Amino acid sequence: MGGFCCPARDTWDQAGGRRCMLLPCLSDPARRSSLSLKVALVMLHIVFVGVLFLLDRELIDKTRKIPWYTALYLSLFVATLAQYFFTAGSSPGYVIDAMRAANETHSIAVKTLMTSKQSASRNGSLIISVEGGQSGKSISRSNATPWTKLVMDLYPPGSSVRSWTCTYCNIVQPPRAKHCHDCDKCVLQFDHHCVWLGTCIGQGNHCRFWWYILEETALCIWTGILYISYLKANFSRAWWKDGIVILLLATLSICLVFLLLLLLFHSYIVLTNQTTYELVRRRRIPYLRGIPERVYPFSKGICTNIYNFCCARSSLYTIETLPTTRELEEKSKPYTCLDVLKCRCC
Ligand SMILES: [Zn+2]
Ligand SMILES: [Zn+2]
Repeated sequence: MGGFCCPARDTWDQAGGRRCMLLPCLSDPARRSSLSLKVALVMLHIVFVGVLFLLDRELIDKTRKIPWYTALYLSLFVATLAQYFFTAGSSPGYVIDAMRAANETHSIAVKTLMTSKQSASRNGSLIISVEGGQSGKSISRSNATPWTKLVMDLYPPGSSVRSWTCTYCNIVQPPRAKHCHDCDKCVLQFDHHCVWLGTCIGQGNHCRFWWYILEETALCIWTGILYISYLKANFSRAWWKDGIVILLLATLSICLVFLLLLLLFHSYIVLTNQTTYELVRRRRIPYLRGIPERVYPFSKGICTNIYNFCCARSSLYTIETLPTTRELEEKSKPYTCLDVLKCRCC
């Protein structure tokens, strides 16, 4: 029994081995499933759009008469797919990368300090630049604080390093970071792990994700309009064609409802500077526990929230301080007419 061998399995293994030799990326099951997902997504888009060009003669005629219309539609199609790959391939902002950047900056700063001290003894000047404000701290070249000290400064005094250390990565997590079990890394401003994109959504790629949903929604609406126009002009000419288009239109409608809800939800969390994780697990996150539901602790006003979300440089990791009790009290105050006039939220 011990020498039993399955010939079919042997053939399968050999084929798999050959495949892995030709394409080394296929040897890793995680990368293989991610690649299959991306191929399936592209195929799905091609099917939904391709059916239109195969069945709708009027669309072909329209393309000849008004080429810019089809060119615009196809541009949206290409842009959506490009945005998908752009988002899927971008880093969500891993805490380990931020920590490396901070430590590197620190060692550079120490070297500069050593050099400055030597020159200071000659010309009598010493300049040490440390960046950071009340609302947030940017780890830039001028920030010379070591990671643990830098992070612990963001928590209330007396907080223990142990309670904010990730047990999987052994890294001190800044506020709003969370360990992702799918990526096996801690992510800055963790939103959620997107199975569809095969990556986490965090500080580094949330903006790109929002644009992807917007483009996908627009493509879905436009494709739906083209399907409805086809059915209006060609209904009951060929039952099998109608059947295919109706089936695809029904699937598209379900996707559209889901996308619109997702777009609205993510627009809301962007305007209030929250993450999906913070919204869903608010009562379980220690520093958010006890804060009233209508208070958005990290919000800096709609305009600043949008600006930070859209204009954040992916090369610069931003970690935010926890709001002080006074700031929370200010935010908890009920809205008055004077606040509207003063444009309090902006
Ligand atoms: Zn972790
Ligand atoms: Zn993840």
